[in-house]
Amino acid sequence: MPNKNNIIVIGAGISGLTAAAYLAKKGYNVTVLEKIHQPGGFVHSFKRKEYRFEASTHQICGMHPRYLIPLLESIDVDKNLFVRSKTLFECIKFDDEKNVMEDRFLIPSGFDAIKKTLHTLFPEEQKSIDSYFEKLNGLGEEVCVLKSVTRNPLKYIIHTIPALLLKNGKGIIRQIGKKHFKNIVLLKNISNKEATEYIKNENLKWILNTYLPYIACTSSEVSAAAFMAMNFMYFKSGPYLIKEGTTNLIKNIIQTIEKNGGTIKYNQAVKKVSIENNKAYSVETSSGNIYKCDGILAAMNPNDLFLKFIEKDKLPQKYIDSIEKIEYSLSVFQVYLALKIDIKDYGFNSCTTFVEPSKDSDENFKRIYSNVEQDRNKTSFIITNYSNYDTTAAPKGHSVVCIAELMTMSDWETLSKEEYNRKKQEIEKIIIDKTEKITGIPIKENIVLKFSATPSTMKKYSSIPEGAMAGAKINFNQSFEKRTPLETPIGNIFLAGATVANPE
Ligand SMILES: Cc1cc2nc3c(=O)[nH]c(=O)nc-3n(C[C@H](O)[C@H](O)[C@H](O)COP(=O)(O)OP(=O)(O)OC[C@H]3O[C@@H](n4cnc5c(N)ncnc54)[C@H](O)[C@@H]3O)c2cc1C
Repeated sequence: MPNKNNIIVIGAGISGLTAAAYLAKKGYNVTVLEKIHQPGGFVHSFKRKEYRFEASTHQICGMHPRYLIPLLESIDVDKNLFVRSKTLFECIKFDDEKNVMEDRFLIPSGFDAIKKTLHTLFPEEQKSIDSYFEKLNGLGEEVCVLKSVTRNPLKYIIHTIPALLLKNGKGIIRQIGKKHFKNIVLLKNISNKEATEYIKNENLKWILNTYLPYIACTSSEVSAAAFMAMNFMYFKSGPYLIKEGTTNLIKNIIQTIEKNGGTIKYNQAVKKVSIENNKAYSVETSSGNIYKCDGILAAMNPNDLFLKFIEKDKLPQKYIDSIEKIEYSLSVFQVYLALKIDIKDYGFNSCTTFVEPSKDSDENFKRIYSNVEQDRNKTSFIITNYSNYDTTAAPKGHSVVCIAELMTMSDWETLSKEEYNRKKQEIEKIIIDKTEKITGIPIKENIVLKFSATPSTMKKYSSIPEGAMAGAKINFNQSFEKRTPLETPIGNIFLAGATVANPE
């Protein structure tokens, strides 16, 4: 599209705002339309009393010179906002019959430090640790080369050859293709579970797979290449937090948009996109406003866009079918707590603690999906201690903590107000009770503030189907070239965001 054209960006989540800043800097006339009253989508921090909470984000990974860093530079984001955490995570295994802690591992951040710690913890597995890290590194570097060209085979070739020639100097054709991308080729079509079968110690395997809850997938349903690409970013260049909350990052990006002539309009829920000759020419919002456009960047879920806002006869049936088939990831229930204790005093020195039953992780996911009330105190959860990341989140000696548990949408959207509140309180209590019992942190007697978010709350702030926390599931059918492409059958509509972006 020629510059100076009017581009409508739908959705002011992190994806829409980032794209808007990029396009505004390139000289396009950008208008961002946002459904709710505030920017950020899931990426949002807020204050209650003297405590600062994060709506969702636990941590940011991918601060790699060939990944996030150039993107942040291209939209003038202040890199000083990003602060690296000293620890990667702590993980705890518990006996799910008695709710008592069984094992506990603290993992530092940084590739070499992680490897060294694992060598010390699992000396009998030195070879498999080295082999895992070699594959992880190889795969991660290959993905960095390929990062923008994974879907379209033509683009894949066009972009890959110059990338390789550039990298290898002399460009020997033999080295191109499969051989160069040997880790991707090797790991793309096997599951993460199969790819890590050579690791015998279950705790080691679990530590290497700790990231799985963040993508809400089991080890068997995710391609090893897709998972390890994310794990590479997590291990190699993470985790980071945003100084004084993620809303600070959002404000920084908005500054770039506005400085470059772009605007953001709130309470503008897009409800119709008009198409003629295979081009979108206007967007209508629920408040009745009509915005003419030369192009659309939709950073919202494609289900609403293509199944509700565009007339069916403007789209190929095959494309409609593919959108209808998108499988979304699990949602999440979150308990937000302000505590009048510093949980570091109870031995919790990491910003993130993964807590998982000592059963096979597939069994844990089965329980999450089956939604049986009695099993709720047996499922995994993640404790994020935001005040450990950033001391401005809570007064000295106090903590801001979020306990997140993966959950399906199930009946949340159809319950009456009373049933909804009752269910929410019951689950909140189960989560606090089991956290207290397993970790030994005296939560209940030290609560200053307590509130929760259900899968419905997640949906309210994002509009994503199922309140999915990780966009479209990253299973075999929805990774690499099989993921919904950014290009659409409508010539001037492009997609962005968690549903379409390949995390790898
Ligand atoms: C609990 C939780 C924890 C997470 N932790 C992390 C983490 O630690 N690290 C990490 O990297 N990721 C994390 N994620 C995932 C991450 O937050 C999301 O992948 C990311 O924020 C998605 O950004 P987005 O812009 O694609 O979508 P969203 O944040 O969903 O934004 C979409 C925006 O579009 C707007 N919109 C929707 N429909 C319309 C419409 N019709 N008209 C106008 N506007 C519309 C919505 O209101 C919203 O503002 C977490 C997610 C959750 C839920």
